[in-house]
Amino acid sequence: MDKTPAYAALDAKSPLVPFSVERREPGPSEVLIDILYCGVCHSDIHQARDEWGGSIFPMVPGHEIVGRVAAVGDAVSRYRVGDTVGVGCFVDSCRSCPQCEAGEEQYCDFGMSGTYNSYERDAEHRFDRSRPTYGGYSTRITVDEAYVLRVPDGIPLERAAPLLCAGITTYSPLKHFQVKPGDRVAVVGLGGLGHMAVKIAAAMGAEVTVLSTSESKRADAAALGAHDFAATGDGEVFKSHARRFDMIVDTVSAEHDYNAYLGLLKVDGTMVLLGIPEVPAPVAAGALISKRRRLAGSMIGGIRETQEMLDFCAEHGIAADIELIDIDGINDAYERMLRGDVRYRFVIDIASLRGEG
Ligand code: NAP
Ligand code: ZN
Ligand code: ZN
Repeated sequence: MDKTPAYAALDAKSPLVPFSVERREPGPSEVLIDILYCGVCHSDIHQARDEWGGSIFPMVPGHEIVGRVAAVGDAVSRYRVGDTVGVGCFVDSCRSCPQCEAGEEQYCDFGMSGTYNSYERDAEHRFDRSRPTYGGYSTRITVDEAYVLRVPDGIPLERAAPLLCAGITTYSPLKHFQVKPGDRVAVVGLGGLGHMAVKIAAAMGAEVTVLSTSESKRADAAALGAHDFAATGDGEVFKSHARRFDMIVDTVSAEHDYNAYLGLLKVDGTMVLLGIPEVPAPVAAGALISKRRRLAGSMIGGIRETQEMLDFCAEHGIAADIELIDIDGINDAYERMLRGDVRYRFVIDIASLRGEG
């Protein structure tokens, strides 16, 4: 196949630059997808800058992919040429461990094959370390049909892309911890994940409060469906909202004090960490013990649940609020995200990478 245009980080210190990758012709169970849109997740920045360690360069980020099926292998049964599909944060896993069998491939005992910054698998479904994965800042991708999602009709495609990571990452813990109508849910950090958490929790019937460092996002929070908003800057909220919430969804990408937020949980409340700051933070036992609180974490969601989330969003009229950018705006978008200046997800129009932009 011809070289596929892409944008890559060549190392942890430099801006992303034009690049090209090899994409394979689809094997029997694979589909080739022409990428239309790719969302920009804060995890792209963490990994392109090697903030979590172990990054593989050159790196083509992007795991919020929406596109059209361009070709299918002989044994593909779920998709046809022309179908609108999505690819999220992983493109393969071992397929036989208890997690994979349960449809929670993201927790695969042998590690998922991330859509980028990871490795493809060999015929025995073990990592093939000679073949790195490259993500959605590119014009096409080849993926096994078992790791492809169907994008339901009715969601504008550019606004559907962020559901593939930000949507499922917030939907999964809200479902797992059984948020129900009337529950008080706080969303900490109103960025890509945070704004999806607000929409989805509100659609599940929760009473949602946004806790933000940005007073300027107050009106947006209400428009997104939040019932309440509190700026965290002066610390007053940690007194006024003490012991108020059944659940806290923490989407903050940078270092912050978990203990302060734990104090906002009721007895038996749960704080679920989604944000992955570069440095670990201490947790005081007393903040948990004093009210039998739980501190949990959650990572994206399995293929089955991701499909369920897409269908839920279509049914409830939920899509991401986005700012569409051309590929050459990616480095500026990263800087703006680091300043909390995103309303609420950047999405790359991949036409700009094909030279059609
Ligand atoms: P984002 O769009 O940049 O949003 C992060 C938000 O956190 C910002 O908009 C800001 O909101 C708040 N924030 C930033 N710095 C802060 C600070 N120093 N103190 C307090 N609040 C701060 O990022 P995202 O794409 O939503 O991702 C958020 C985090 O989740 C990242 O660490 C990412 O890697 C991680 N993530 C995890 C998973 C998973 O599976 N668990 C999946 C995807 C992403 P305010 O302006 O409202 O304060
Ligand atoms: Zn992501
Ligand atoms: Zn597995």
